[in-house]
Amino acid sequence: MTLVPEIAQLGDQVLRKKAEAVDNVHDIEIRRIIDVMQNTLSTTSGVGIAAPQIGESKRIIIIASRPTPRYPSAPLMEPTVMINPDFKLLSETREKDWEGCLSIPGIRALVPRYQEILIQYTDIQGGSVEAKLNGFVARIFQHEIDHLEGKTYLDRVENNAEIFAESEFFKLICDSRGN
Ligand code: ZN
Repeated sequence: MTLVPEIAQLGDQVLRKKAEAVDNVHDIEIRRIIDVMQNTLSTTSGVGIAAPQIGESKRIIIIASRPTPRYPSAPLMEPTVMINPDFKLLSETREKDWEGCLSIPGIRALVPRYQEILIQYTDIQGGSVEAKLNGFVARIFQHEIDHLEGKTYLDRVENNAEIFAESEFFKLICDSRGN
């Protein structure tokens, strides 16, 4: 059984460090970190996680877009482990949408993100993968990559008035859907 650690919370210095590249995806320690990340993510209703959030300063993220109580309209995809991920812009277009973070409980904010990106990463077998992402999944990717650079989404908020308590965010979302 793999232990599920506490998720690092805003203020923890591990969230402010630039994470180290992974040299060998088959390394037993890297495997252990990926296992812990998968287990941790599955116990939450988050849609992504980065290794620094479990206290490991390594360039590993998991994207797992799925509709959850936290993100009811998220598209469904297989959870994907991405090692040493990077991206290029396919368009300069940015759009603001709501984000939250397991490391910053109780808060949501509007964050501008690029809408169309070309990503590149190493998969868990060591293969090199390239893919186009857009919309919400591209947003999750950019959010998780920020964690590898020691940034959080709050650093990208353009206006403090666009930071909401989660309770107010849910009121807003319910109101805008007319229920
Ligand atoms: Zn986060």
